[in-house]
Amino acid sequence: MENSGNGISRRSFLGRGAAGILGAGLVMTAGAAGSLAQEKPEGSGGKPSIREYRRLGRTGFKVSDISFGNAGMQDTSLLEYAMDRGINYVDTARQYYEMEVIIGRLAPSLRDKLFITTKLEPEIFTSETTEEQILAAIDESLKRLNTDRIDCCLVHSVGDPNLGGPDRARNPAIVSAFHKARKAGKIRFWGASSHGPAVVADFDWLLDNTDIDMIMPGMNFMTKGLEPVLRKAAEKDAAVVAMKSLSAARKIDYSKFMKEGRTARQALLKWTLAQPGISTIALTMRTFEEIDEFVGASGGTDMSSGERRVLEGYAAALDRDYCRPGCDGCLEACPQKVRIHDILRYRLYFDSYGREKYAMNLYAALPPGRNAANCVSCAGQCSGSCAYGLDIRSRLAEAHNELTI
Ligand code: SF4
Ligand code: SF4
Repeated sequence: MENSGNGISRRSFLGRGAAGILGAGLVMTAGAAGSLAQEKPEGSGGKPSIREYRRLGRTGFKVSDISFGNAGMQDTSLLEYAMDRGINYVDTARQYYEMEVIIGRLAPSLRDKLFITTKLEPEIFTSETTEEQILAAIDESLKRLNTDRIDCCLVHSVGDPNLGGPDRARNPAIVSAFHKARKAGKIRFWGASSHGPAVVADFDWLLDNTDIDMIMPGMNFMTKGLEPVLRKAAEKDAAVVAMKSLSAARKIDYSKFMKEGRTARQALLKWTLAQPGISTIALTMRTFEEIDEFVGASGGTDMSSGERRVLEGYAAALDRDYCRPGCDGCLEACPQKVRIHDILRYRLYFDSYGREKYAMNLYAALPPGRNAANCVSCAGQCSGSCAYGLDIRSRLAEAHNELTI
């Protein structure tokens, strides 16, 4: 499995520098849609393609600044289309239905051109998890991905108090298991993802106390407070892969934010790409049109005054509707301990990501009494507890209606 069909090994491909990767991009585009050199920039009538490849921290890989994710993908067509436009990084997880298996169906000559990051199931990481359990989970993902080595393997969802306290991320078995897997050649790098309330504390600890290679925070124009972690990651040469950069984009009419061919979502991506130390943004790409739209934001960081105005309008429209990743400011206000931030995140999956079934399953799996069934008739002790001014009770009542099977 190490050697691909065209004689290029996964190891040798990933070991190349920028020129090698860009060269590979030329090979990729030649088959289905013409060479990268023939691509015209967005706005001139041609197909968009990746304009910038960034260093992925100490991995040394030159990664497309826009990268592919899609937990609900049914086959490889969208991923191949994205690769054709120069995307060379795919983000997946054991939890994302059959996505690992589908990636494993890519022709080896294509798969070997990708940097593949997967995340192990969040629930396997506890303060008691053993090395053996983590190594077994890595073996399972290797099998599903149909490969003999994962480029980067992540702890899924550190910083989530529902899954455990601070001891969870600090369990020494995590680092020792990843080191063993790396020594055995099963993974090349390791890291952690988070959009939980303790994201800053857990990433801070991991960066200070381990050799973590990658962090994957939920972040976008509406979030605040991650800047010190981003700076620390840069100091430690750990890669930063942003996620949820569009998750604020809930049911919104983008047309009124169109400006010179760019959409509000592209302006949001530009904002994220301008943040310190960001290597790439992992984005859910559900259609060919979305891929073209997102790839069209590649290489952009300078924000024009017009785009700033677009973002200001966007922020004003969402300010009192968007539950921020990494926030838990209201949880203590609910005497029934309703999982407010989780429920509002599931609602985003339902409304913005097109992942209705996934969102409904997550909602149905909440512990008894922790869903929003009681909010409909509650006096609303949570009222006024959101620093961002969300009307929590109404939002939860809406979410309950949408997410209830
Ligand atoms: S409406 Fe009532 S039950 Fe629902 S989150 Fe607020 S305080 Fe808790
Ligand atoms: S509702 Fe407001 S306070 Fe509660 S988690 Fe969301 S953003 Fe934070």
